[in-house]
Amino acid sequence: MSGEQELGITESKEHSPGEWYAEVVRKAGLADYAPMGGFIVTRPRGYALWERLQDHLDGWFKETGVDNAYFPLFIPESYLEREKDIVEGFDPEVAWVTHGGHDELEERLAVRPTSESIIAPFMAEWVRSYRDLPLRLNQWCSVVRWEATETKPFFRTKEFLWQEGHTAHATSEDAWEETMTRLGQYERLYEEVMAIPGMTGRKPEHDKFPGAHTTTTIEALMPDGKSVQAGTSHHLGTSFAEAFDITYTDEDEDERIAHTTSWGLSWRALGALIMTHSDDQGLVIPPALAPTQVVVVPIWQADTEDEVKEYAAGLAADLDEQFRVELDDRDERNPGFKFNEHELNGIPLRIEIGPNEVEDGEATLVHRPDGESEVADADSIVESVEEALETVYAKLYAAAEENLEENIREAHGRGEILGTIGQHGGYVKTGWCGDEECETAIKDEIAAEIVMLPLDEDEEPVHDTCGICEEEAVETAYFAKSY
Ligand SMILES: [Zn+2]
Repeated sequence: MSGEQELGITESKEHSPGEWYAEVVRKAGLADYAPMGGFIVTRPRGYALWERLQDHLDGWFKETGVDNAYFPLFIPESYLEREKDIVEGFDPEVAWVTHGGHDELEERLAVRPTSESIIAPFMAEWVRSYRDLPLRLNQWCSVVRWEATETKPFFRTKEFLWQEGHTAHATSEDAWEETMTRLGQYERLYEEVMAIPGMTGRKPEHDKFPGAHTTTTIEALMPDGKSVQAGTSHHLGTSFAEAFDITYTDEDEDERIAHTTSWGLSWRALGALIMTHSDDQGLVIPPALAPTQVVVVPIWQADTEDEVKEYAAGLAADLDEQFRVELDDRDERNPGFKFNEHELNGIPLRIEIGPNEVEDGEATLVHRPDGESEVADADSIVESVEEALETVYAKLYAAAEENLEENIREAHGRGEILGTIGQHGGYVKTGWCGDEECETAIKDEIAAEIVMLPLDEDEEPVHDTCGICEEEAVETAYFAKSY
């Protein structure tokens, strides 16, 4: 029994979400802490989630004209400097390589914090005429930002995995369409694959990607009331193209400047996934991402062992073509231990097979998120499992959607805004005059900020006046505490 205790989650999601999250990540075998602060080791089960997420997104990218490429991990200092003219204010904590073997390098090399400055010069070389446009590149890689923060796997790490897309277009309209296409794909990933409803919007002027014309974001609300910036897509206008000379000749042989975009989604998505659905029994994940979707557990006594095991194996074989199935017929573990372990690891559907099921030609299906069980005919087990997995997804999405809908509130007046966020968390909508100082007034008090504005700049603000300074409101601002 002591083994069972060690296996289980001891922290509470509701009362100690930080400790609970760390415990789920470790005990479900997703990640470990590396010897260097700020770095993690992604274990096979954690990496499998990333791979599935990557498969979906990568497929959609390729269907919409994106090619993958790979640029060096290191960026010469002079390249980063070139970017500084436009991206004043973008000063990520860069890790530097100063030596190669025993020799000091003539020029320091940055470990990429993002790759605009190494990709843009090549885009400039590859784009000559309008026929070369649009140019759409993406790379799956890791980047390093040497920020001194407490390590939180998949949320706060110095090195993180992500994809960064970089595109060049003939017109601003094309670049905007591209920006929105990628934002839409991030939203689709969250909703269809991760079972998390997202909110899409724009970042305020002062919080845009430096040099960007428009930064769009998808935000996801966590159960603890904080928002996660789940992916960003930037219309960069012509600023990067001007700095790096990305020009083309149009059909009239006139020289034109290109319009560029960049867009990225990191393994923070995994953090949002784990935090949204998991519970005090462990990991909960939607079927589309689960490395094992169905586990078949035979439950036998000495006199029924052979027939129960054989029946369970047959059932697992029937399901094997369509689903990722595991047959857990280990002798050395009892069914209770197995159930706990599979719940901890987040297998969406468990199928229990005992002597009764064998006799009746049935199977008992148990849903991971809530323990609900149903009896299915063995003859139509494939259809039943398919339906059950759809139900599991629907339950997860409904719970996340309910959390989101219940936690978007309106408030007006400094006291009311602070009070509403302080008491409930979630998003608070209010009129905003557009002045950063009004955000600061809230930020200084309660560490909540404007996480987004509506995508449509012309949308009527929710109030006529700014919720903080009472001047005329120009937009609706969504305030929230964020990760
Ligand atoms: Zn104001």
